[in-house]
Amino acid sequence: MTQHRLQCRLCLQTGPLLQKSHIIPEFMYKPLFDEHHKLVKVDPKEYLEGKAFVQRPSSGEYEANLLCGVCDNETLGRYESYAEKFLTSLVTRSPGDFIVETGRSETGIELTRCRNVDYAKFKLFLLSILWRASISKRDVFSDIYLGPYEEQLRKMIKDGDPGSVDCFPILIFSWHTDPSMPTGFISQPGKARAKEGTRYIFIISGMSYVFHVSPRSFDRRYLPFTLQPTNQITFFHVPPGSGQDLFRRYHDF
Ligand SMILES: [Zn+2]
Repeated sequence: MTQHRLQCRLCLQTGPLLQKSHIIPEFMYKPLFDEHHKLVKVDPKEYLEGKAFVQRPSSGEYEANLLCGVCDNETLGRYESYAEKFLTSLVTRSPGDFIVETGRSETGIELTRCRNVDYAKFKLFLLSILWRASISKRDVFSDIYLGPYEEQLRKMIKDGDPGSVDCFPILIFSWHTDPSMPTGFISQPGKARAKEGTRYIFIISGMSYVFHVSPRSFDRRYLPFTLQPTNQITFFHVPPGSGQDLFRRYHDF
């Protein structure tokens, strides 16, 4: 494989770069929850035949000349293997060290709470997807451009620093529970501007990951539902029939 000497976007060292770095890892395309809010096990064959909820962005997510082998395989690889372990434990319903509970928010929205989820590793994993989409030149990620936040994220990811709870807070919604949500909603990652600031939204396999970038942009009432330094994470389950409404309201589309 030809390798080019260019500057790695993460460590900024010049050297041979990989010709195939992914932006969104494969394992994120596994649906996690079924219609009863139970964690769902996916048949990989069905998934390949397109029977699962999944619809990929039309372009591939691989890109050349972004990262060196150390950054891709070791720095990002560490976050990814942790995230894969956590998400796979949900899919296979074998939570292991992770504690999974269901409950409701004050407004009655069903939620799944997971404990013992490493705040630093899982948050940096999710932030690395946002960052990779921002540095990507692929059309599918053209709405994701972080400007000055890109450099802040680069340092955090490289240094293993997840920041405080209100630094780039992330909310996660599951749409699997709402049959009224068209699968066509699963599309390229987007940006929503609300008066409070900008949000970036990734819909991957029926899950919506909402990243808040500017420090003013986050309604602090939602803070307890983001990834917590106490290693707790919450997934919201969108009530049947209200997916599009909630989606528009929250995402300001
Ligand atoms: Zn590097």
